[in-house]
Amino acid sequence: MELRKLGSTGLKVSVVGIGCNNFGGRCDENLTKEIVYSALDSGINFFDTADVYGHQGLSEEYLGKAVAGKRKDLVIATKFGMQMDKDGRKKGGSRRYIIQAVEDSLKRLHTDYIDLYQQHFPDDETQIEETLCALDDLVHQGKVRYLGCSNFSGWQISDADWTARNRGLNRFITAQNLYSLIDRSIEKEVIPACQQYGLGLLPYFPLASGLLTGKYIRGSEPPKGTRLASWGERAKSALSDNNFDIVEKLTSFAAKKDHSLLDLAMSWLASLPQISSVIAGATSKEQVQQNAAAASWRLTDEDMNEVHIISSP
Ligand code: NAP
Repeated sequence: MELRKLGSTGLKVSVVGIGCNNFGGRCDENLTKEIVYSALDSGINFFDTADVYGHQGLSEEYLGKAVAGKRKDLVIATKFGMQMDKDGRKKGGSRRYIIQAVEDSLKRLHTDYIDLYQQHFPDDETQIEETLCALDDLVHQGKVRYLGCSNFSGWQISDADWTARNRGLNRFITAQNLYSLIDRSIEKEVIPACQQYGLGLLPYFPLASGLLTGKYIRGSEPPKGTRLASWGERAKSALSDNNFDIVEKLTSFAAKKDHSLLDLAMSWLASLPQISSVIAGATSKEQVQQNAAAASWRLTDEDMNEVHIISSP
């Protein structure tokens, strides 16, 4: 498994990571363990969770239990900021909330440090300076090693970077945003901002919730037990004719090169230098093994151009 620098830091993460938002939801504690062990056997060292995943806390808790005894060899990323209670007090990027949120995550993860602590969404009610000052304190206290942002726009990344540099604070070193062959909208503003300020990109929904694995077929019901089957009506926009047009062309392109659609989805992301790790989610150990193996095809410039044309909106 290839290791890559997390942004411009010296920390190395596996180019395939595990997205942990199924843990505590569709994956119970035992299945979480199976997935984590399968990831470790495949050379994966990077796990991305959030306080809110798995009914507000179970993902962190199950991940913490699964990695017990192996913690020092792993890179664990989590997030704060999404609402964690009924009345909306536990959310956002204020100093008061962050200081509480980090303690709660450390406890659930059964650890005394978080490798990458990410602001899940921008908080338009709190100045970024306040958030960065509080996060910087956590780094100095040793509770957190690196900082990241998620769902920030290009200007918000730029504003946060300028604020951190201007105040001499620790900067965001990663951006986690929606990015796959089905949705390339961050190429306009977010990726240029990441390149300019040296942030590593962690693409979420890299498999478009499974659409880019080839298991959904145009005109057929989603297979039983899959994520999109469980979404019911909500799955309609994911399973649109436009998306199937792209998926079918990508499948033919990959087949011409003796690869699968899954290989293409994972390897296209891994071929982009700004990507630190492709954090695909999984609900079985077999999926983890397939995803770990799928990212090793290095597409040529010609392949990349062809794929860009096919996947253009
Ligand atoms: P994803 O990686 O696009 O899709 C994962 C789903 O695809 C799995 O649940 C599984 O679906 C299916 N799958 C995976 N590997 C497969 C394989 N080899 N063969 C067949 N099906 C396969 O989406 P995601 O897990 O939601 O996103 C990845 C990670 O990004 C999350 O886990 C989370 O850490 C992060 N994320 C972050 C944000 C944010 O706002 N920052 C938002 C969303 C996600 P089935 O359930 O059908 O088996």
